[in-house]
Amino acid sequence: MWGQVFTFDITKIKLNYVKCEDLTPRKEGENTVKEEFEKLIKEAEKARKRAYTPYSKFKVGAAVLSADGKIFTGCNIENASFSLAVCAERVAIFKAISEGSTKFKAIAVIGDTDKPCSPCGACRQVISEFGEDIPLIMANLKGDVKIKKIKELLPEAFGKNDLL
Ligand SMILES: [Zn+2]
Repeated sequence: MWGQVFTFDITKIKLNYVKCEDLTPRKEGENTVKEEFEKLIKEAEKARKRAYTPYSKFKVGAAVLSADGKIFTGCNIENASFSLAVCAERVAIFKAISEGSTKFKAIAVIGDTDKPCSPCGACRQVISEFGEDIPLIMANLKGDVKIKKIKELLPEAFGKNDLL
């Protein structure tokens, strides 16, 4: 069930998920969705360590899993001209797009937050551009994980059909 909170120990890479229909194996021999999500959270956490945040000290990491199985990571990057800061999610997505991957299976974001790290409105809009059903895996360093589809986080998003 999307939207449930479950916990994992990021230091031991042992995730403890609640029962979740969407985390069952797709096919025998293939990585399960659970395994894919675990890996994505790990990669996001690694990218978080590279965040450039001399001003806020608020570090965020993100990882995007493309339809062809590649993972692109991002971290937030600040600037002395504060308004030029860019979020980890957008860095990861823009990296993927610029490398030719435009279809996404899932996106993970992690921060040292009390609740699972939630993407800002701008990032929700950017993610929504590439599919409203993309699962967004929100995590924090305590091991809380919450998964929601982007359309739940940004209902009635402005999209390409609005330009017609
Ligand atoms: Zn953002």
